[in-house]
Amino acid sequence: MTITTRFAPSPTGFLHLGSVRTALINYAFTRSRGGKFILRIEDTDQTRLVDGSIQYIKDTVRSLGMKVDLSYQQSDRKDIYQKYADDLIAGDLAYKKDNAIFVKASSDDSDLIFKDHIKGDINLKYPCKDFVIIKSDGFPTYHFACVVDDHLMGVTHVFRGSEWITSVPKHIYLYDLFGWDAPSIGHLSVIVKSDGKKLSKRDKDADLRTYRDNGYMYDSIANYCLLIGHGSLGSLNTEIFTLDSIIPKFDIKGYGGSNPQFDSGKFLNINFKHLRNIPDGFYPHIVSKMIGKDVKDGFGVFLIKNKHRIKCGNDIRDLYRYKDIPVTPDLTDEDQKIVLCVLDDFKESKDIKSSILSACDKYAVDKSDKVKIFRLVRGVLVNEDNGPDLQQICDFIGFDVAVDRLTLV
Ligand code: GLU
Repeated sequence: MTITTRFAPSPTGFLHLGSVRTALINYAFTRSRGGKFILRIEDTDQTRLVDGSIQYIKDTVRSLGMKVDLSYQQSDRKDIYQKYADDLIAGDLAYKKDNAIFVKASSDDSDLIFKDHIKGDINLKYPCKDFVIIKSDGFPTYHFACVVDDHLMGVTHVFRGSEWITSVPKHIYLYDLFGWDAPSIGHLSVIVKSDGKKLSKRDKDADLRTYRDNGYMYDSIANYCLLIGHGSLGSLNTEIFTLDSIIPKFDIKGYGGSNPQFDSGKFLNINFKHLRNIPDGFYPHIVSKMIGKDVKDGFGVFLIKNKHRIKCGNDIRDLYRYKDIPVTPDLTDEDQKIVLCVLDDFKESKDIKSSILSACDKYAVDKSDKVKIFRLVRGVLVNEDNGPDLQQICDFIGFDVAVDRLTLV
């Protein structure tokens, strides 16, 4: 039997970090066992559809490095769900009312044991009320389409967030009514905030676009999503990895512990490490795509020299702004004299460091004075007292711009 998993997002224009994590976990599990991966767009709730979101989901799945064996939309399969609902009606297990189809509740209220692939044995009962399987608009409900599709598509394993555990009685009941074997279902720990509450849709930290906009690499997103909440990945010296590299070591059982807390600092640090690991030759090309700007020539060289400072795309955008950042120095008379002294020397030598050092000889009485002068000049050049090497800054912004800014004082 081929192991088969699926990612089943709804095209609502939004991808929650938790859903992305679920997709990656299903993907890593199936690939670690030579299995198949299905992308199923759950678009049967017509009121929640958002234009462009199917493409957004597909692009994101691809960019994260997940290769899909089969991709489909549930709205294309209306007739199939209708047929299975009709079969239940024919067997007197369901009925039509107000244009919707309801499945009859079970009269069996005995305790059942559901074997959760991750959490272990869970007690449950069949649903005690009739419930809708086909809505009055003719589209199936989530529960019905999910069970029919998982069965027909040969899904062998379902991993999803623990918030879906309440669906299990309905799903198991439907499998039993049809006489089908249910896939192995496992419920994962879910990402929470520092107050212990679930990272909700309203939190900016939950929206995948936040990370793309701030210049996180897809490798880092995959890395953090797979790491968070896993009992051992983070302690096996495998903290930094790519999706492909973790697959051979992947262990699903690690996700059953307590709900992990979202840690933005750790996420940023993972991105920093991925960025730093990019070989110099590829760096400009990769970050160009990430920040949506053409990184070339002098800026590429400048970035490579400053890899150790760059944690995300926003840091790159900040460095890029050096070229046209408006500087408005407001200096004391004393500082002004120092900068003008640096300027005179710089115009002659084009070497900012030696110009500062000769100004230091004139004005600095001790080492801390020297540091102050370096900071002063950096402040005038790019509005920052700490940052990249001054000569690198001048090479990047260009000699004329540097002279203009120093003259402004
Ligand atoms: N459409 C559901 C979601 O958005 C899928 C739940 C499941 O995996 O069964 O997460």
